[in-house]
Amino acid sequence: MAASRDHLSTVRHVIVVLSGKGGVGKSTVASQIALGLMHAGKKVGLLDVDLCGPSIPKMFNVEEKDIHQCPEGWLPVYIDKEQRLGVMSIGFLLSNKDDAVVWRGPKKNAMIKQFLSDVVWSNIDYLVIDTPPGTTDEHLTVIENLKSYNPDGAILVTTPQAVAVGDVRRELTFCKKTHLPIIGIIENMSGFVCPCCGEVTNVFSKGGGESLAKQFSVPFLGCIPLDPHLTQSTEEGRDFFEAFKGSVAIKALQ
Ligand code: ADP
Repeated sequence: MAASRDHLSTVRHVIVVLSGKGGVGKSTVASQIALGLMHAGKKVGLLDVDLCGPSIPKMFNVEEKDIHQCPEGWLPVYIDKEQRLGVMSIGFLLSNKDDAVVWRGPKKNAMIKQFLSDVVWSNIDYLVIDTPPGTTDEHLTVIENLKSYNPDGAILVTTPQAVAVGDVRRELTFCKKTHLPIIGIIENMSGFVCPCCGEVTNVFSKGGGESLAKQFSVPFLGCIPLDPHLTQSTEEGRDFFEAFKGSVAIKALQ
């Protein structure tokens, strides 16, 4: 394994994306935050530390790309010619994309440490880190290794239902215990956007994220509706901001 480096010191802002459980759209939100920042003119890195379920490469249709090594470390995979958004994920390092990562904690933690030290981000404005669901050993490794770089903090993703909101409550306490600042809560899948008329219907309950934010005195960053165009974009690895300009979910993301 290569010696540890210090590429994070060139990164201006670090945002960690957390969720209490899987399937609430954490990776989708992380990828759309990264894309949104790129379209706002920022240079962005997106680091996928969800080692057992890396979905970021597929969301950008770069699954088949390989990581290149240079003397300074690992070069991210860029999704655009101008190199405005670079992605790093264990998905690029697996010889077979369907391989399961069956590793014990220490090996996972060593991989995360290497991702945090050895990726050559080249003076990016924002590093967005997509984490596994829940509060695991991997989260502690991320937070411990970020401490000396003063990360901006965590964005917590929840769906509106009480069961998901309850899991985010644990994430909030986790952030407080580990002294990771909380940027705010996003309520994802908040209403369904009809693909025909664009009308938003509240399939699940609404407002769980916002009331949790109030209860914990943390910022509420907004609601993202369930938008079939967003599902399609992440399934096909398309740039949602380019492919579906004017969609309701894009307005929410901006
Ligand atoms: P997680 O990372 O929390 O496990 P994902 O981001 O992988 O969840 O999302 C699970 C699925 O839900 C994906 O197919 C994604 O396209 C879809 N999805 C997530 N958020 C939305 C949304 N707001 N609108 C439409 N589809 C969404």
